[in-house]
Amino acid sequence: MQAIELIADWDPRPGYPVTDAEKASGKATMACHVFRNPRLEVKEVPDPTPGPGEVVVRIRGCGVCGSDTHSIETDADGYMIFSGPASFPCILGHEYAGEVVEVGPGVRNLRRGDLVTAEGMLYCGVCEACRKGLFNQCIRLDMVGFSSPGAYARYIAVHEKHCWKLNGLAERLGSAQAACEQGALVEPVGCSFNGMFVAAGWMLPGSHVAVFGCGPIGLGAVALARATGAATIVAFDLSAPRLQAARDLGADEAWDVRELAAAGGSPADVMRRVSGGWGSDMVVEAAGAAVQTMPEIERALAPAAKVVYLGRTGERAPVMLDVLVSGASRIVGARGHAGGGVYPHIIRMLEHGVLDIGGMISHRAPLSEAAAAVERSRSRLDSKIMLVVD
Ligand SMILES: [Zn+2]
Ligand SMILES: [Zn+2]
Repeated sequence: MQAIELIADWDPRPGYPVTDAEKASGKATMACHVFRNPRLEVKEVPDPTPGPGEVVVRIRGCGVCGSDTHSIETDADGYMIFSGPASFPCILGHEYAGEVVEVGPGVRNLRRGDLVTAEGMLYCGVCEACRKGLFNQCIRLDMVGFSSPGAYARYIAVHEKHCWKLNGLAERLGSAQAACEQGALVEPVGCSFNGMFVAAGWMLPGSHVAVFGCGPIGLGAVALARATGAATIVAFDLSAPRLQAARDLGADEAWDVRELAAAGGSPADVMRRVSGGWGSDMVVEAAGAAVQTMPEIERALAPAAKVVYLGRTGERAPVMLDVLVSGASRIVGARGHAGGGVYPHIIRMLEHGVLDIGGMISHRAPLSEAAAAVERSRSRLDSKIMLVVD
């Protein structure tokens, strides 16, 4: 089959201590310190076959993730921006859904013809973190599309423990293709769900919510906040089409922070005004711009607020921690989407029409144009680019 591989040079930064495990496995714990000169290549690779407990999924849709964008973008020294675990070359792509076409020995819950989407965090299930239920913090974590073959391809092999069925969603939508495209969005929206509801421990209905960053994770947070009874939602970004997408998904107000600044305002002012002076009960940081966002956030927190930090940045950010002390507020970090009931609950919300995220897809492209699609994603104008595999 044809697949789109990401290739990069193993060239650790001077001073970066490469561990023996990294050397032996070729898997860097933080790709941004080790891999240089990333590029995409179309390759002919063997079709995958299912191992014990695995199925082969014929992929029908695969989203282009911000992490995919970060894996082809580099800093001034040519190192990739992506900071997660990775070993290259690797077939890119981890936000996928499709049809089970082959079932390996010992598979119990899936059969040929089932439509599924799958978690991209391949946890081991054996380490102490996993056995505490912290699957996203697995110490042997592999990530589909970065350290395990991904879904910019026609087929992928995956263990059934990572798969969730979309048959009911296909029935509701009357279309397997539509179900697979929405199913491919469960991964990014799942990262928002995991942060807001699992890691931060829920958001009371009637909360005032602020979302910084309107990429797929921030847009997922907007849609989830609306679906679960937020009183008000304000969103901030720099991209006009993404701000419009935030309004379409349920934000009461969506602001370009540069326009706000030019008019003498700030996100903190908006958060205070919209909440009648109370402040935001829940803030989702999905911009990865803590240096800019945290000083705003700390000025507009409601008492006992939860700040869910989902964006990624290597920078240290100044935070007035006394605000957390006085307000009994907290900052909660989270990554990933595995465990916690994330996938089945989102799929249920989609199946029963409680959550509508289909509108997040702003551009579709065939698999053969994957490289151009990843290049397009660098503009940050799209809400979600979906590769459609025919
Ligand atoms: Zn993703
Ligand atoms: Zn583990």
